[in-house]
Amino acid sequence: MSKVVAENLPDAQGHFGQYGGRYVPETLMHPLQELEAEYFRAQHDAAFQEELSYYLKEFCGRPTPLYFAERLTRELGGAKIYLEREDLLHTGAHKINNAMGQILLAKRMGKTRIIAETGAGQHGVATATVAAMFGFKCVIYMGAVDCQRQELNVYRMKMLGSEVVPVHAGQKTLKEAVNEAMRDWVTNIRSTHYILGTAYGAHPYPVMVRNFQRIMGDEARAQILEKESRLPDMLLACVGGGSNAIGLFYPFLDDAGVKMVGVEAGGLGIKPEQHAARFHGGSLGVLQGTRSYILQDDFGQIQSTHSVSAGLDYAAVGPEHAWLHDQKRVEYTYATDDKALEAFTKLARLEGIIPALESAHAVAECIVRAPQMSKDALIIVNLSGRGDKDVAQAADKIGLQMPK
Ligand SMILES: *Cc1c(COP(=O)(O)O)cnc(C)c1O
Repeated sequence: MSKVVAENLPDAQGHFGQYGGRYVPETLMHPLQELEAEYFRAQHDAAFQEELSYYLKEFCGRPTPLYFAERLTRELGGAKIYLEREDLLHTGAHKINNAMGQILLAKRMGKTRIIAETGAGQHGVATATVAAMFGFKCVIYMGAVDCQRQELNVYRMKMLGSEVVPVHAGQKTLKEAVNEAMRDWVTNIRSTHYILGTAYGAHPYPVMVRNFQRIMGDEARAQILEKESRLPDMLLACVGGGSNAIGLFYPFLDDAGVKMVGVEAGGLGIKPEQHAARFHGGSLGVLQGTRSYILQDDFGQIQSTHSVSAGLDYAAVGPEHAWLHDQKRVEYTYATDDKALEAFTKLARLEGIIPALESAHAVAECIVRAPQMSKDALIIVNLSGRGDKDVAQAADKIGLQMPK
């Protein structure tokens, strides 16, 4: 892979090869162009970058450690495993890297109101947090089913002063929440910035979110070079919309020796409507502003999806991943609910770290890959978030009993 290719994408219209772009109603074209122009100005503005670095360090807790998982490594008996500890970040996941970047942009643009969509609630919590910090009015759209399975996060957002709007349409999960957020944005465009939570949607969101999240890969790269004096052999990350994966992968894309594996939600197995593995049953289509791999039926209707983890439960994947998939630069596989739950427990008991169910999908793939690799090989697993939000659900699934 030549340097030039990765650095030239997306093109000026936001295309990654045949993916990406800007498929939105006319009323959103102008605000997206305005956002794009302001973002690229901010990106090259030293004062903006300095302000962002300040808050990422002083408020969010960056840099996060790259932690050697000694007991997991010994147990699996193969490659040496490092964990990228995004779970230690304020609010408990990588989402706040992007939320912080976008709120500073909203401030710069003179907006006063923030909206966002959320699945597992981690992006909602991150957004509610930065909105509280900078004194913005904030409304979060969340599917009614997700509100139920992530009750703790609903209360966190409300505690932070945000309004949470449950969405009762369709499957009542992330896709419907995004629809409602887009509807709100069209109506309130002057006052409102939409903080989209993943490397998805209409241009410039995929490139902007990737750039706000690449700090994970930039830090991990410096840290592994310091600890091991060489680059890793493999990077593993779960893929929902794709922001934690692209954030870790991006700074390594030109390093041919670094293999990358994205792990999607295999749910109950690869049968229609039982999973959210877009590269295993998805096809080319347009959804919510962008062109990518999408789970759809023969008539182009979006299929239902299933995953034990709300954060991976989405019918489409970020356009840059679609491109990297076709280039064969990144391999995409999946972990089922059962394997993710096994990995969740294993990491808790071997390392004293309870991962998010989303991140547990990456750990599950690590459990498969590490034993097949030699002891001097190095793996970095993106621990995109912590599992506090998932403990009740996981306890129920694995049958933990309340002591009597
Ligand atoms: C939201 C979330 C994900 C999935 O989103 P990506 O954009 O694919 O990273 C993964 N892990 C955690 C902890 C999350 O909160």
